[in-house]
Amino acid sequence: MIKKSRKVRDYKALTRALPTLRYLNPPSVFIHLQNSRCKTYNLNVKEGDHVKIGEVIGIRHGGFFEQNVHSTVSGTIGTLIKKFHRTGRKVDCVEIINDYKDTLHESVFDRTDEEISKLTQNEIVEIIKEKSLVGLGGSGFPTYIKLATKDKIDTVVINAVECEPYLSSDYRLILEHPDRVGMGLKYIMQALNVDKAIIAIKSEKDPLYEILNQVLEVRFSDLNVKVAKLGNHYPQGWEIEVFKWALGIEVPFGELPTKYGVIGFNVSTAVGVFDAIKHNLPVIKRHFTMTGDAIRFPQNIRVRVGTSVRELVALCDGYKKELDEVLVIMGGPMMGVSTVSDDVIVSKTTTSVIVLENIEYKEEPCIRCGSCVYSCPAHLEPVQIMNAVKRNDKAVMKGLEAFKCIECGLCAYVCTSKIHVTDYIRKAKRLIG
Ligand code: SF4
Ligand code: SF4
Repeated sequence: MIKKSRKVRDYKALTRALPTLRYLNPPSVFIHLQNSRCKTYNLNVKEGDHVKIGEVIGIRHGGFFEQNVHSTVSGTIGTLIKKFHRTGRKVDCVEIINDYKDTLHESVFDRTDEEISKLTQNEIVEIIKEKSLVGLGGSGFPTYIKLATKDKIDTVVINAVECEPYLSSDYRLILEHPDRVGMGLKYIMQALNVDKAIIAIKSEKDPLYEILNQVLEVRFSDLNVKVAKLGNHYPQGWEIEVFKWALGIEVPFGELPTKYGVIGFNVSTAVGVFDAIKHNLPVIKRHFTMTGDAIRFPQNIRVRVGTSVRELVALCDGYKKELDEVLVIMGGPMMGVSTVSDDVIVSKTTTSVIVLENIEYKEEPCIRCGSCVYSCPAHLEPVQIMNAVKRNDKAVMKGLEAFKCIECGLCAYVCTSKIHVTDYIRKAKRLIG
């Protein structure tokens, strides 16, 4: 039987109705000096130095850009240490021991509304660049590069779909801070000289639609912003799907959405734009989902960037089983990466950690049911790509356009034989790199 499905079981109810906990004063934070886009770095501080919140302590070097590294607490620089990044790799981190004084660096200050209203696109881009804002939905792409576009933009889209099962931190962020979402959107529209925007949410029954509309009516009546309810299928939050269903614009693979007059930002990124422009503040805190069937009290938590996940596990009353009997996943269950340890750190782009009971599924041989083919949102043939990987046939992998895979995880989710099909597609992408 073909399982054509883009409907995945949702587990957001574990956390969605609970008010966000706050865990903003960890004893130490660990700041990643490397990430998936930046392999090298310079550190401007040494052990024993005192730093303040928002202070630049180093620079990460990416392929075509650099990122300032900011302190997220005030305190004393500790040692360099390796910790897991959300990509599943161990990377260099610097420890900052919290002095609990929350002293802001001199570079953190408030701009008046009048000052902000006069900022040009270039000035906004420079502020966002200096504050190292990146896509906080997990993409990690530098926001200043998107904001610097010279293409004529017709509509800004704020992506608040959050389609991954279990995740509800964006939902709570909107519910608890709709004003900051609106202000971030306003500044983005100013930078891009756009007078039309859409906030895209899922269509299931929830209060976001009413709350956003109320806030837009009362606080942002000068802006032309609509709230669009999109479908509940997965991966509805994929930007290409959001543009298609919210605006009817189909952006072909490999082309920039800006060529079609549209640009998208995750809702947390919009709040990051607000903090950078209004307070000249980098991302020092974020909403984060700590959940899963194997954690005692799943919660959304507002955390300091650099917090140890082990402390957050303790805040949620620990695991239901021993650590070696659970599976720790960084990010959502469909696109996230499982780690062998819970010694992980919340970075700017870490949306969630999910802890599941580690049930070993026995893979069966492929029965050529076609479920993976019928479900793939990128219109690929995962089973054929998998077979090409087994034969190490790169020409076929290329011919089957494995590079178009968005690693959504659906082919593995629907697989009748419980084969980790997505792992094969990832491997194909690496091989034809
Ligand atoms: S992981 Fe890739 S191949 Fe598999 S369903 Fe998603 S887009 Fe298609
Ligand atoms: S890989 Fe799985 S889903 Fe795809 S055809 Fe084979 S059994 Fe079916």
